[in-house]
Amino acid sequence: MTTVPDPILFRFGGGLAEGGRGDRDRLGGKGANLAEMAAIGLPVPPGFTLSTALSTRYEADGERLLDEIADEVAAGVAHIEGVVGKRFGDAADPLLVSVRSGARVSMPGMMDTVLNLGLNESATEGLAAQSGDARFAWDSHRRFVQMYANVVMGLDHHDFEEALEIAKEDRGVHLDTDLTADDLRALVRTFHAIAERSGAPFPTDPHTQLRGAIGAVFGSWNSERARTYRRINGIGHDWGTAVNVQAMVFGNMGETSATGVAFTRDPATGERVVYGEYLLNAQGEDVVAGIRTPQYLTRAAREGAGAKAPSMEEALPDTFAELTAVFDQLERHYRDTQDIEFTVERGTLWMLQTRTAKRTAVAALRTAVEMADEGLITRNEAVLRVDPRALDQLLHPTLDPDAVRDVLTRGLPASPGAASGGMVFDAHTAEQWAAAGRPCLLVRVETSPEDIGGMHAATGILTARGGMTSHAAVVARGMGRPCVSGAGQLVIDRAARTLTVAGRRFAEGDALTIDGATGEVMAGTVATRQPELSGPFATLMGWADAARRMTVRANAETEADAAVARGFGAEGIGLCRTEHMFFEPSRITAVREMILANDETGRRAALAKLLPAQRDDFAAIFRVMAGLPVTIRLLDPPLHEFLPTRDEDFAAVAQGAGVSVDELRRRAAQLHEVNPMLGHRGCRLGVSYPEIYEMQATALFEAAVLVAGESEPPLPEVMIPLVATARELELMKAVVDRAAAAVFEQAGRRVNYLVGTMIELPRAALMAGRIAEHARFFSFGTNDLTQTTLGISRDDAGRFLGDYVDCGILPADPFVTLDEEGVGELVALAAERGRAVRPDIKLGICGEHGGDPQSVAFCERLHLDYVSASPYRVPIARVAAAQAALRARASVPS
Ligand code: PEP
Ligand code: MG
Repeated sequence: MTTVPDPILFRFGGGLAEGGRGDRDRLGGKGANLAEMAAIGLPVPPGFTLSTALSTRYEADGERLLDEIADEVAAGVAHIEGVVGKRFGDAADPLLVSVRSGARVSMPGMMDTVLNLGLNESATEGLAAQSGDARFAWDSHRRFVQMYANVVMGLDHHDFEEALEIAKEDRGVHLDTDLTADDLRALVRTFHAIAERSGAPFPTDPHTQLRGAIGAVFGSWNSERARTYRRINGIGHDWGTAVNVQAMVFGNMGETSATGVAFTRDPATGERVVYGEYLLNAQGEDVVAGIRTPQYLTRAAREGAGAKAPSMEEALPDTFAELTAVFDQLERHYRDTQDIEFTVERGTLWMLQTRTAKRTAVAALRTAVEMADEGLITRNEAVLRVDPRALDQLLHPTLDPDAVRDVLTRGLPASPGAASGGMVFDAHTAEQWAAAGRPCLLVRVETSPEDIGGMHAATGILTARGGMTSHAAVVARGMGRPCVSGAGQLVIDRAARTLTVAGRRFAEGDALTIDGATGEVMAGTVATRQPELSGPFATLMGWADAARRMTVRANAETEADAAVARGFGAEGIGLCRTEHMFFEPSRITAVREMILANDETGRRAALAKLLPAQRDDFAAIFRVMAGLPVTIRLLDPPLHEFLPTRDEDFAAVAQGAGVSVDELRRRAAQLHEVNPMLGHRGCRLGVSYPEIYEMQATALFEAAVLVAGESEPPLPEVMIPLVATARELELMKAVVDRAAAAVFEQAGRRVNYLVGTMIELPRAALMAGRIAEHARFFSFGTNDLTQTTLGISRDDAGRFLGDYVDCGILPADPFVTLDEEGVGELVALAAERGRAVRPDIKLGICGEHGGDPQSVAFCERLHLDYVSASPYRVPIARVAAAQAALRARASVPS
């Protein structure tokens, strides 16, 4: 049987569309959407896409690949020539093309582009004659040489910028547009001379140029910055980029030409308004590069900002009307906010790109809810549209409106949230500071893709140049970092590491605050306030709750945390770590007395002192949770953790406990363990000292009886940690049951309760059937289960896990995202064996993975009953659980 090879060439435009939006994997996002727009009849310049599959082959042997695809490239060029009616390399009327990258997901600014390809000396004369605009032709040529030399020949673009600045100085002009055709022709010669300093001749044959550009764009997939971006954003290294070759259209052919970027809804707020920027008589790179200050699209936006330069609505009213009609068509077709690039060439509108818009979490929520209300999507689709992790952005603090602000200047509100930190002036320093745990703000004239690591490391980003669609703004929004861009009054001296603004000078490390929602830049650190979670947030959460099957609980052990958790919608407590109550300063002395006691009588006396405090704590939590289940885990950590470490603390404890410092030190030495994580902890403490668990159980049942007498009876679930054998649980359950019986007898009142266990050791997972004979519930402690399954210390893993992920040994940090094939297998097995013995056993997860969307989806697949996460991650878990349930119902992959 012969197999048909996958096609590698996809043509579009001129009535043809060989791909569509479903082909992102092969065509990349840009290529798939160009084909789709062509298919629905939108004006797209003709072109062709070379498949992403070639990208990995290019890495292995670039020149050979380029030889092999020469026929396809020629067929693609012939298609463009046929539609446009011009020939590539024609000296009288040349066809020019753009060559752009486009991966499966957008990686803004990470890979390379070459525009105006096809020009040489004679073709430029032809272009000048055809367009009747020699200045335009030579300007296109000098842009081409600069881009090609940089992208394909690897030369530094600063050398070209410098030559351009010198040319402007020589002519005594400020703007590029003030240079004449002759100036530009001379500049092109200078550019060629600079390029040829590299030793390689600058290619004049358009086919050679195209070959070089296609290779460079495939090659840019593996640039340092693209690799960093993929690592941060979890994008597969093997996905590859497509290459899109497309007929050029020109936004720089005079005052009826323009180029712009737009969003069909405001990407910062989600409001349904046309939002974007454009420049008259310019090429696309001028808008995104932040070199010229872009103008507004709508009159309302211009007036709102008090800007003078005319909006597109005013300057090109007919084309603007055409453009907004295209926006409506695209939104109806894609059923989502689109981020669009367009060019107007002498009054004719051309669409160059559309893609689903990146937006802030606020905008994503509002758009999802409003689109469902508009009937464009269903409520369940709205739930699926929100990235649960991005909800974190909504939980970001904002500036306290009552706090004093020392406002220095204002820029553009590019990405919301307030951030403070010491100012640093380069990405490398930002990364160093972050590694040392020092919050910093990255302050730059403008950011470039090389800054990606530093932007991620910084608490916020401030730039002097660039608009709302500049690199800094787009990347910061995607990352959820607060950002103020285009604060033009900042004077940054990178060499001296100073910032001067409003007549004041600041040095590296001085504290600065930005408000990404207003654009304000303030000296010092300004107090912040927690966000309010109403409006679209509450609506969407309601829809998520209606869609999910699993319940969502919180890990909380104080009354305050329990209250926060309920505010975020927690439906119970999945893990109350009682040792946190032991650490309270008012309790620690009694705890230490208990540890130091020589015998059971001494221990019981000390425990009796602890009991009332424990009871009060439990009662407070039961009241907050008002009848919802509360899982209380009995003491887990080894006792030595409660002993002092500093000399002065030893002295204080010795005095308080009435023992000598020497005796105390002897006891501490006795308790010392070589490997405490695997030592005398968890239920092993309860086995050695059952009176500890007895006290805790008594306290919690007394609290339960007390609260049951006041209002809604609580639902305690008593959990035994670190069980490896059924017998351990059997023994500890007997201690708990005896305490319950004694309390109920004395109080004359019963409260329903369950006894269950953590499953956090591999042996417990394997023996889950036997253990289930004594357990009404299992809670998967995936922190310890990960630690013990991989044999990697959860406290020391940070030093080397990064290497493991980088080397592809592990797909992600297994302490963040559950190692499904290893640890997950044990969880699945335990669930199955537990259910086989006790079909109604309650199953949940309380390790950190309970707040990680991917791990939550895994829990849904195993049909667990609940996930439990830290209070601030409860909303994330609610949406993640809803999405997992919806995907399970529709059998769509996550
Ligand atoms: C666990 O091990 O997953 C767990 C929740 O317990 P802790 O983190 O307290 O060890
Ligand atoms: Mg544990």
